[in-house]
Amino acid sequence: MIIRCWGIRGSIPVSGRDYIKYGGDTTCVEVRAEDNQVLILDAGSGIRRLGNQLLRENIRKCHLLFTHAHWDHLLGFPFFKPIYDKRSRIELYGCPFAQKSVRHLIGKTMVRPNFPVDFKDVRAKIDFHGICMDPFKIHRLHVEPVLLSHPNQGIGYKLVENGKVFVFLTDNELTYHHRGGLRYEDYRKFCRNADLLLHDAEYTPAEYPARITWGHSVYTDVVRLAIEAGVKKLGFIHHNQDRADCEVAQIEKKARAIIRKAGSPLHCFAAAQDQVIRL
Ligand SMILES: [Zn+2]
Ligand SMILES: [Zn+2]
Repeated sequence: MIIRCWGIRGSIPVSGRDYIKYGGDTTCVEVRAEDNQVLILDAGSGIRRLGNQLLRENIRKCHLLFTHAHWDHLLGFPFFKPIYDKRSRIELYGCPFAQKSVRHLIGKTMVRPNFPVDFKDVRAKIDFHGICMDPFKIHRLHVEPVLLSHPNQGIGYKLVENGKVFVFLTDNELTYHHRGGLRYEDYRKFCRNADLLLHDAEYTPAEYPARITWGHSVYTDVVRLAIEAGVKKLGFIHHNQDRADCEVAQIEKKARAIIRKAGSPLHCFAAAQDQVIRL
């Protein structure tokens, strides 16, 4: 499996000289399966460039998996050009939670007067799959959802192919139990021996006390979880919108010092836009 980070910024797209290295697009991660099937995790603003890439490669089919309905994870959908091409086929997966359906959830990104094109004018053939907690398969790739600890709920995913395990937990507050979510111990179990964990690491320990219940994790807690779970590679995602490149790099450096001190073999990095990870 090949993982490409098209957008890993949290909450709102950002731009400017402070965001060159880690990028400004919001959550969108592509997973290429070994048979070249395309899975997309979330439709943050990063999905715009991914859509252009799929058109360049003449890839007409993809599987789009949503974590939750917060705006930063949906706002790129109307700019995903394959949806305006009637030859496109999109398998769309997500848990509707309090919404009527997954269709309703995504349809809200294209409603007048907030957007000039109506959802009913989408030309792609979209099949909606209202999945919540049941594992499912996309060809040879096994997908296991897990509930996130986040306001308004959400789901993370474990993707397994050929014995390689990738866990994607964005927008997850490890040390606060949101209604409908799980607890720290449950996430530790879920991440056990993962080859790669991409986890929300939005806050520093100093910032967190004023932001408890906002739905995001402190990077030191994420490091602890990854070490305890025996994760091989840990990537921080959902970088805070105000975090300049030098500050993200600083967090990465501090995290590596903690890991060294613990004598753990964990490899840790702050994920950057356009980064590619092969498992
Ligand atoms: Zn978010
Ligand atoms: Zn969120």
